[in-house]
Amino acid sequence: MNWLTDFVKPKLNSLVNRKDPPSDLWTKCGCGERMLYVSDLKENLHVCSYCDQHMYIDFESRFKQLFDDEKFELIEIPIENNDPLKFKDLKKYTDRLKDAQQKTKQKDAAHVATGQIGGTTICIFLLDFKFMGGSMGQYVGEAFKIGCQKAVELNCPFISIASSGGARMQEGLVSLMQLPKTVAACNLLDQNKIPFISILTHPTTGGVSASFAMLGDIIIAEKGSMIGFAGKRVIEKTINEQLPEDFQTAEYLLEHGMIDIVVHRKELRETLSKVLSFLKK
Ligand SMILES: [Zn+2]
Repeated sequence: MNWLTDFVKPKLNSLVNRKDPPSDLWTKCGCGERMLYVSDLKENLHVCSYCDQHMYIDFESRFKQLFDDEKFELIEIPIENNDPLKFKDLKKYTDRLKDAQQKTKQKDAAHVATGQIGGTTICIFLLDFKFMGGSMGQYVGEAFKIGCQKAVELNCPFISIASSGGARMQEGLVSLMQLPKTVAACNLLDQNKIPFISILTHPTTGGVSASFAMLGDIIIAEKGSMIGFAGKRVIEKTINEQLPEDFQTAEYLLEHGMIDIVVHRKELRETLSKVLSFLKK
């Protein structure tokens, strides 16, 4: 027990009749410049007003930003997350899932929605980083496939928005099987001549960057995003060479022809509108 915080502070507060402010009013950016007021940050699409860093944005805010009139319809993913390997490390995987579900109020990391952007019907698949680092297991792979099938059914362009640490290691081989599964779903889009726009956000790494995320007909990345397969230090140690400072950034990938466009989050909707109208022609 801390005497100052547990005894003295409540006493003083009761004397001046003051309550502690709610802790979710303010947040911090990695630049550590100043505290950010959460409602201002939301207004600013979760971009730091001091250093312009594109911070985490939840799936609902993202959908609202992109779809016309903030209107969209979520597609249900009719599978349950399960634990094929009965995996346990420090904690059981089933407990980790439950914790993540309670914390994020989401069933798993993937969401699929349909709506319109600039009047064009669109199907969007999105990974939410807050749910176990946006990692890809059975549920996420299935959601991606359902998103692609929906785009084929509606004969509309398909957009994927990734932010992920990669495959969900607690599902072992089953999570690795999602790589060919999502690649097969991309093939389905291709066979049906459905345009596929892949948007990479901070961070897109591991099994997600090694599968569907890099297969878009057009690949757009948000400014400053870290995109890669293995971490920079791992690669440096493997090849025994020092890598450039900006290695694995969106800007570096653009310079080296790996992606097509780097965009500021505030211009993402407009860029998509332009690309979609171009594709329509
Ligand atoms: Zn900042």
